[in-house]
Amino acid sequence: MTVKAVSREKESKPSKEVNVDAQIASGADSEVLDGIRRHLLYSLGRFDDRSTAHEWGKALELTVRDQLMKNWQKTRLAERSYENKRGFYLSLEFLLGRSMNNAILNMGLEGPTAEALKQLGLNYEELEEEERDAGLGNGGLGRLAACFMDSCANLGLPVRGYGIRYEYGMFHQSIREGRQVENPDHWLMAGNPWEIEQPDRTCKVKFYGRSEHYSNDAGRMCVRWVDTHDVLAVPFDMPIPGYKNGVVNTLRLWKASATDEFNLKDFNDGDYADAVAQKNLAEQITMVLYPNDASENGKELRLRQQYFLASASLQDVIQDWTLKFGPNFDRFAEFHCFQLNDTHPTLAVAELMRLLVDEQGLNWEKAWSITTSTMAYTNHTLLPEALERWSVRLLGELLPRLLDIIYEINARFLVEVAHCWPGDVERQRRMSIIEEGHEPHVRMAYLGIVGSFSVNGVAALHSDLLTRGLFKDFYALWPNKFNNKTNGVTPRRWLAHCNPDLKSLIDEKIGTEWICELEQLSQLKSYVSDSAFQKKWAAVKHYNKQRLSQLVQDKCGVEFDPNFIFDVQVKRIHEYKRQLLNVLHVIHLYDKITRGEADQVVPRCVLIGGKAAPGYFLAKLLIKLINNVAEVINSDERVSERLRLAFLPNYNVSAMEVICPAADLSEQISTAGKEASGTGNMKFMMNGALTIGTYDGANIEILDAVGEEHFFLFGLKEDEIVQHRISHKPEHIVESDPDLARVMGLLQCGHFSMFEEGIFQPLIDSVLNPHDPWMVAADFRSYVDAQNRAASAYKNKELWTQSSILNTATSGKFSSDRTIREYAQDIWKLL
Ligand SMILES: *Cc1c(COP(=O)(O)O)cnc(C)c1O
Repeated sequence: MTVKAVSREKESKPSKEVNVDAQIASGADSEVLDGIRRHLLYSLGRFDDRSTAHEWGKALELTVRDQLMKNWQKTRLAERSYENKRGFYLSLEFLLGRSMNNAILNMGLEGPTAEALKQLGLNYEELEEEERDAGLGNGGLGRLAACFMDSCANLGLPVRGYGIRYEYGMFHQSIREGRQVENPDHWLMAGNPWEIEQPDRTCKVKFYGRSEHYSNDAGRMCVRWVDTHDVLAVPFDMPIPGYKNGVVNTLRLWKASATDEFNLKDFNDGDYADAVAQKNLAEQITMVLYPNDASENGKELRLRQQYFLASASLQDVIQDWTLKFGPNFDRFAEFHCFQLNDTHPTLAVAELMRLLVDEQGLNWEKAWSITTSTMAYTNHTLLPEALERWSVRLLGELLPRLLDIIYEINARFLVEVAHCWPGDVERQRRMSIIEEGHEPHVRMAYLGIVGSFSVNGVAALHSDLLTRGLFKDFYALWPNKFNNKTNGVTPRRWLAHCNPDLKSLIDEKIGTEWICELEQLSQLKSYVSDSAFQKKWAAVKHYNKQRLSQLVQDKCGVEFDPNFIFDVQVKRIHEYKRQLLNVLHVIHLYDKITRGEADQVVPRCVLIGGKAAPGYFLAKLLIKLINNVAEVINSDERVSERLRLAFLPNYNVSAMEVICPAADLSEQISTAGKEASGTGNMKFMMNGALTIGTYDGANIEILDAVGEEHFFLFGLKEDEIVQHRISHKPEHIVESDPDLARVMGLLQCGHFSMFEEGIFQPLIDSVLNPHDPWMVAADFRSYVDAQNRAASAYKNKELWTQSSILNTATSGKFSSDRTIREYAQDIWKLL
């Protein structure tokens, strides 16, 4: 890490001793200024005045943290009183990004902070940059969990997040010779002021061993899990401050630690050092986040992570309950609801049964009634490759008692199915939690459905497709379990914080209530035709584009011109998200310009960013293609006066905070029916970008909200694809479309792989593959037409700005406050 010195004294001068007590005692300074000085000495041990930006940043973080401790205490004590029902959000991922800027905004500390830093001669942006992103997630699913935490706190809901404190978060991506290089993200290396360890809440998680039957004191047959290898779960709490409402909720992240009961035999044999070294095995569990987005993993360590989270979190909740009410669980269900973020934490269904039956002595029926009235499951994907299944063999070895319980749940469930559809053995086979076959597997989504009282999708189309397709049988059995909760994003981070100039402009017109009531943005509609307002709106966008251009210059060495249309696609790299379609369009524009039709091309800067799973060959090759095409375009002067292309390395939350305020055109071009919701689309809309998109996920709801004149819709719809697939011949499509034929020709002849012959063949093949599941060739024409409509529209600055204002004005629905209100009302019953 580079640490810049921002000491106000020149490095060469001798350092001076600082008398903090005297400075603070003078009493003239603000709490923030005092705090910074105090932490620099007492927390960070800086004894002279030669602190770096990093240390000043840490001192500021600690100071801001101090400011929320009282509210955190108040909120925590209120939770413990059990006056209200509580919610628990279980997720293997929380993609939080930075905490300091968010805490400063939410606690209204911008003024005092600016004042203090001014007195110290420090630059806020520079200190902000020193905080590492908490990258404990892959993409949309993890970021959703973070936005939900913010909204729960904002609405004052007693909801706690439970997750894993990965030592290494999402890998850092750099680009070498056009290819992705992954580097470990050791985000905790320099310490993390935003976590507080709570060793007294440590609990024990069991692995391996076997089930043992025994009769208890009352003579009842019971089961216990014995001969286990135990791992300690140590909680670290992160504060989640609400927006100026005195609430601070908790995100509790678990770290794995070895018990001291290690290998007593080795110990006594004198192998003390070896025995201690064994500790590493236990601690591996929370070492690293799996970097696969939307694809299952199958690795044993991943299963351990999942069980570790489920078990530790449930034990923690039960411990709180028994501290207050003893072993009486009669009213437990009235006070708890667990939301499972995808199938990753669904072992919680079986684990809660185990804890209630084996450890608390409840009978099966009572325990099942509690489980199925407290668990709720959210599905996030329709992609078959993302549906988690664990082999019975692996589960039985690692978690034998859990496997017993899953079999028992399934046996009782199949009786219910048989009762409902007598004699329909085929249906029993289809719906069974255990997938039979050569190697039997546990279907985690089915365990989630059977064990929960609520199953939701994340956008209207997605929820609809779930009940019509993947979960059809379950919908027939339990229609009332199924519901939709369209995703949202927090307007604090994704508008108020990341776009301060737009915030000021909006505040000027409609006040500040919109920050917590985003529907209020609709008042902006009355200013759409106000030309003074339009001018200011356009000026803010222009400024934000300059800011992004600087980032692109720094990270990619590519010059972006803020007068060009900024066409942006940032998200995980995946075939279904179709970055390839985007590149084909860019190549098409290049082709047009080089063939002398430059004056038909509206000047455009195309930005693409995102990480590929390290084992995903085609996604990584696509990154290489983007970089090679960029190299050709940006170095050809004829072309670069109208077209630029850049691949931004290491796309993450902090990068998105600079990107989304600066986009003119938001690329949401997934194959219809594949993107469950999308949330990037919402961040762009909120910041006044127009969307070019397919009829997919939440795009549909964005289109409905803003109106089709302000959205560039293209492509086959989900049901049309089903039809189309039958006669789909990509080769014929290429032959009959001269533009596409030339684009494919340029790829085929090696125009973008001059010294790397044939490297892009797998991508070419993927377009021509008659089974192409992503419909790239099929949607090309329609996409190019939509791009042309967008380009012409951009030529009329006034109309474009009106559409931009309207996009922001109609984005109210996409606040995660709305989403969380729905969860709280319909599922959690907290409101
Ligand atoms: C919002 C966000 C995502 C999700 O983007 P989609 O376009 O919905 O896939 C992924 N990563 C980061 C860093 C984000 O901020």
